[in-house]
Amino acid sequence: MTTRFENGIVATLGENNRLLWNATVVTKGELVAAVGDSLEMKRRFPDAETVDCAGQIILPGFICTHHHFYSTMARGMFIPGEPAANFVQILERLWWKLDRSLSEEDILLSAQLPLIDCIRNGTTTVIDHHASPSKRDGSLDLIEKAVRQAGIRASLCYEVSDRNIPAGGVTENERFIKKVGKGDGQIAAMMGLHASFTLSDATLDMCVGIAKDAGVGCHIHVAEDTSDRDDSLAKYHLHTIGRLDKHGLTGEKSLFIHCVHIDESEMDILAGTNTAVVHNPESNMNNAVGVTPLLQLLKKGVLVGLGSDGMGSDMLVQMRCAYLLHRLANHDPRVAFQEAPQLLLQNNTQIAKRQFGVTLGEIAEGNPADLAIMDYQPPTPLSEANFLGHLLFGLVDATVDTTVCKGKILMKGKKIQDLDEERLTARSRELAEQMWKRLQEL
Ligand SMILES: [Zn+2]
Repeated sequence: MTTRFENGIVATLGENNRLLWNATVVTKGELVAAVGDSLEMKRRFPDAETVDCAGQIILPGFICTHHHFYSTMARGMFIPGEPAANFVQILERLWWKLDRSLSEEDILLSAQLPLIDCIRNGTTTVIDHHASPSKRDGSLDLIEKAVRQAGIRASLCYEVSDRNIPAGGVTENERFIKKVGKGDGQIAAMMGLHASFTLSDATLDMCVGIAKDAGVGCHIHVAEDTSDRDDSLAKYHLHTIGRLDKHGLTGEKSLFIHCVHIDESEMDILAGTNTAVVHNPESNMNNAVGVTPLLQLLKKGVLVGLGSDGMGSDMLVQMRCAYLLHRLANHDPRVAFQEAPQLLLQNNTQIAKRQFGVTLGEIAEGNPADLAIMDYQPPTPLSEANFLGHLLFGLVDATVDTTVCKGKILMKGKKIQDLDEERLTARSRELAEQMWKRLQEL
């Protein structure tokens, strides 16, 4: 099927972002067939279906390189006792109880609802990190089912940890990695690991062996809090990244999430091994763990992407948070204007290419047809030269009207096409109440 998304402003993004007024993106099947002037596209593709994008801007779909779908049912949950005073208490009182309380249906719904949120926010590609210790086997199949139903792209993994049973989750990752194989451009697989401080040397070696045999990377939280760094130094006499590098977790397919409490020698390891980092500014602020040395990492040439860590699926919000956080943290209003958008627009694109083997993040002939079409009538002149200003101060608050992934319209006129949000949220409220009760008994 051929469709003309016409009469909009197109921001192609990519290396040479072009801003085209009165422009049309033509999709054919799963790919972009052409981009250009609306009249010319009408002449070249007269028989195409049409979607009018007047008053809107057409962007490539957004990418989130670290998410936790399973966190959905934490929203509004009451946690008895004193409030958690540090990161480890947050894990012990909230997340390590919540993940153990998830049933099969909870896992499915916990994925379906943030996937709807992704579509609402024009996020068409997600790298997820899942945990459900009471229902490990087959959990990634449930999430895959939800992703295929929703129609976006996702890389999935299970976060292996020794905290419940030794090497819990290794077999689920191994099974799913084998099942996905090289992937089909929509679903990819990684070796997921929780964090250094919940993993023995033997478990690390087991995970790396499987990942290397399959040619996939490791997706792991790294030095998110001082507790992870201190544990590694005390038990192994190595900084966190030194320990992970020694066991072979570094490499260009791997994702090291957070990297807040790292020193310069660890940054050099990341740069030298071409290991990608994912920054999650909202989550770091929420957990009060500290500030990732983002500017130093970028200066060292480390590829740093942007994730939400389960805080949401609106990537423009995460981008603005990165922008504000690093201005404040550096006490310098000259920084982060280029860097925060770079994480989302360029770096997440590169990370997605490493995981999915396709070129996302740029509207160009032959690229996958993943689009976020937003209501936007710029109040000031808009061009390539000042696009970032519009992105950080205008588009961040604009509404996504239409979302397209693999050439398929997933939302149009703000209406999700194939998923019954009302029914799913109603069921999720019922299940969440039951899950909260189980959690209180742990
Ligand atoms: Zn995370």
